[in-house]
Amino acid sequence: MNKFIPLCIPNFEGNEEKYVNEAVAQGWVSTGGAYITQLEEEMAKYLHVEKAVACQSGTAAIHLCLVQCGVGPEDGVIVPTLTFIAAVNPVKYQFAHPIFIDCDDSLCMDPKKLLAFCKEQCEFTDGKLFTKEGHHHIKAMVVVHVFGNMADMEAIMDIAKTYNIRVIEDATEALGTSYTSGKYKGMYAGTIGDFGAYSYNGNKVITTGGGGLLVAKDTEEAKHLQYLSTQAKDDHIFYIHHEVGYNYRMTNVQAALGVAQMEELEEFLSRKRKNYELYKKGFENAKNISVMEFREGTNSNKWFYSLNIDMDKLKINARELVETLSEKGVGTRLIWGLIAEQKPYVKDLRTDLSTAKYYAARILNIPSSTGITEEEIDYVIKTVKEVVEENSL
Ligand SMILES: *Cc1c(COP(=O)(O)O)cnc(C)c1O
Repeated sequence: MNKFIPLCIPNFEGNEEKYVNEAVAQGWVSTGGAYITQLEEEMAKYLHVEKAVACQSGTAAIHLCLVQCGVGPEDGVIVPTLTFIAAVNPVKYQFAHPIFIDCDDSLCMDPKKLLAFCKEQCEFTDGKLFTKEGHHHIKAMVVVHVFGNMADMEAIMDIAKTYNIRVIEDATEALGTSYTSGKYKGMYAGTIGDFGAYSYNGNKVITTGGGGLLVAKDTEEAKHLQYLSTQAKDDHIFYIHHEVGYNYRMTNVQAALGVAQMEELEEFLSRKRKNYELYKKGFENAKNISVMEFREGTNSNKWFYSLNIDMDKLKINARELVETLSEKGVGTRLIWGLIAEQKPYVKDLRTDLSTAKYYAARILNIPSSTGITEEEIDYVIKTVKEVVEENSL
């Protein structure tokens, strides 16, 4: 193979150009226009919610949800550590304090460690949960559905209810993931908690170039968030504003791309799921490589595929592994470094993060674009196996 197989690139097989050209031809290129409302309506229908709010990015969507939860200076927000930093940065935008909780083997938040933290390291008084250290009022938590897997929402929602914590689901990687059994059967990632945030960044399941969307359990709250996202305009003739708003609305050009991508969502999901099975089969019985599973009782969107490799058993380090694969035409990436260990976060509260540390040293993501061919998948499997084998101690 003399072609480079990228990790995850967008796929424009449908009406993308047509709709974008229409938006441009009509002159509706900014934060007004019919494609924005169309995308919101289609997403709301798809997710079985009343209202969806299109945003500039997934990060903006998460930020707005924190604002709606009333998170401000000195408040605490429970967050994960093994994920993309955009899930946590908005906590700092509000001058609040992130509190890092470990993941479980799904790579999502560990409800056992979450409960232990609430019980042992906090005080619950007058319906409010405060950290013993620092006396931060924990108003919200950000739960990330990592790589399209579903966090254990049954356990997490029970804890949130007990301690009066609002739940923001970061479903930026999990559009299309749903429960197939249990209490939340039929419900999509992002629609179980109080709020859900989605991203249409270029590497996500569908893209608008850059963009995001949010939903809320309470439609009135979703409406308020839409108001905040459009500069909190109370009267557009006299320019009256009763609150501090944001310029977080999606543009019509982005939404035109999004509407075209929505037409292909089911097809993209079915390819992602089919290709995952090909990888699973291909890596069966491979030495020192296993394919990470997705939660039972859910139908994951299978956004990213993760290999679990014991890097200590290799002669080369993880960086060299990525570089060697890249030279052979296979685009891969390591999982993120822990957020709790990044410079802006080293002083923040945390629990034992041993599971996150364990997986941070082992996970390698492999090509997952919806346009990848079976031949390319075979090449990835063969090449990864060979490189790992050749460099084993
Ligand atoms: C992509 C992503 C985001 C942010 O989405 P943007 O649209 O890029 O702002 C947030 N959290 C996680 C876990 C992500 O993967």
